[in-house]
Amino acid sequence: NNMLFVRSFMILFLSCCMAIRINHCFSSNPSSLRTLPVDGHFSFDEVHHAAKDFGNRFQLLPLALLYPKSVSDIATTIRHVWQMGPNSELTVAARGHSHSLQGQAQAHQGVVINMESLQAHKMHVYSGNYPYVDASGGELWIDILRECLKYGLAPKSWTDYLHLTVGGTLSNAGVSGQAFRHGPQISNVYQMEIVTGKGEVLNCSEKQNSDLFHGVLGGLGQFGIITRARISLEPAPDMVKWIRVLYLDFTTFATDQERLIRAENTFDYIEGFVIINRTSLLNNWRSSFDPQDPVQASQFQSDGRTLFCLELAKYFNRDRMDALNEEVGNLLSQLRYMTSTLFLTEVSYLEFLDRVHVSEVKLRSKGLWEVPHPWLNLLIPKSKINDFADEVFGNILTDTSNGPILIYPVNKSKWDNRTSAVLPEEDIFYLVAFLNSAMPSSMGTDGLEHILTQNKRILEFCETARLGMKQYLPHYNTQEEWKAHFGPRWEVFAQRKSAYDPLAILAPGQRIFQKGI
Ligand code: FAD
Repeated sequence: NNMLFVRSFMILFLSCCMAIRINHCFSSNPSSLRTLPVDGHFSFDEVHHAAKDFGNRFQLLPLALLYPKSVSDIATTIRHVWQMGPNSELTVAARGHSHSLQGQAQAHQGVVINMESLQAHKMHVYSGNYPYVDASGGELWIDILRECLKYGLAPKSWTDYLHLTVGGTLSNAGVSGQAFRHGPQISNVYQMEIVTGKGEVLNCSEKQNSDLFHGVLGGLGQFGIITRARISLEPAPDMVKWIRVLYLDFTTFATDQERLIRAENTFDYIEGFVIINRTSLLNNWRSSFDPQDPVQASQFQSDGRTLFCLELAKYFNRDRMDALNEEVGNLLSQLRYMTSTLFLTEVSYLEFLDRVHVSEVKLRSKGLWEVPHPWLNLLIPKSKINDFADEVFGNILTDTSNGPILIYPVNKSKWDNRTSAVLPEEDIFYLVAFLNSAMPSSMGTDGLEHILTQNKRILEFCETARLGMKQYLPHYNTQEEWKAHFGPRWEVFAQRKSAYDPLAILAPGQRIFQKGI
């Protein structure tokens, strides 16, 4: 009997080992991918660059990189992984321009899909009533802008930086100084084509597959891969009057910002940033801007104090110059900035929208672009913004900052609460973005450790002071933290996951769901 027991145990043990081995081979052996019929191609050797992103802090090496030519390449690959079932560990990440901060577009030992090589959907601009552009999910916004301008049109809502893909920003929200009026980019999409986590190709809009449509917008890549999006357009202006004014007092600054975003007749772009003295930003904030009154401006001294810069833009066509100057004068006269600090410039619409790229070129030339970026993006309810500013700018960040700090309010009514985006409770909330760069080997205030400690202090303050803050471009390590982030919206998010990607194949770098669990 004993012998029988030992033999049965051995057989059981060996078959378990074999099953694990077979499973392991299946899950990590690239040969099953090599034979897939695709119009593009897989690369198994040059996968290193897919383990990098703008954040420069997380590196997860994939097993394979797919350069898709067609939508069916993406569908075939995902279907193949889906058919492997829950025991395979293989996952799939869409990689847009890889400007994520914490490995969100990476897949450890998985398949990374290089969305920029998708050629299936040639850009198409429709210039009739309700104009739109159809673009591939891997298209860069800068290329969309250039194409639309040929028709005198442009998307309405932007990000500050345009070298990002449609799929990448629609998976988050896409917020900039136009969002107070038009909502984020996810409020400006008519329809999309999606490849789900089961490899199905579905069209979706408000009317067709609407749950998938809303789920994917702001959905952190969890429900499907965006292969095409139809984005709403408006007539593009020729030029932009671009204005910066300074405030010493945060409450006055924020009250003016809020008044501007509520008004009917207002600027076309409203943002703001913090200038913490002793940083070189103080000297930079007005470069390429002209003071309206050079004599007064030269007398202005900040005396080491923290300043708040309101940044505004008004779009115009060259034939409306006089009317524009009058309108801008009227709007400015209602604000309470320090009058000696009015700085203006005029640039083309393209130059204005692509403004961050100019800084990118400069930073790249100094080797300062590809450094670690411990960024922190927060959404703070309006009623708590003064408490936040008092603590963060009066206590935590008093001496220096290691990059721009943006701060501006948006109207929640312009966001669609059916999307997956997670927002604070109130009608107006602020986007506060700490866009830090860390010097790789520094142990000082510009080093990674120091900046991460400061970020932690800011997050802890938000928590203990119960500000009702939500992270934008959120990053968490455990599902418990994700549940807390989503709050009452977690249930819908999890239901959508089980409907569209039940095996948790997609976007593993977000660390929300784990395959096989
Ligand atoms: P990736 O980093 O490649 O991907 C991001 C996530 O989306 C990943 O999870 C990925 O798997 C998923 N994904 C990518 N493509 C698809 C697709 N086609 N379908 C489904 N999922 C997909 N954001 C703002 O809102 N406003 C700003 O002003 C702004 N400015 C920025 C400036 C800079 C310099 C940088 C680096 C980032 C900025 N961002 C801003 C953040 C940016 O919008 C996000 O990081 C965005 O995800 C980057 O787009 P990407 O194409 O690089 O996406």
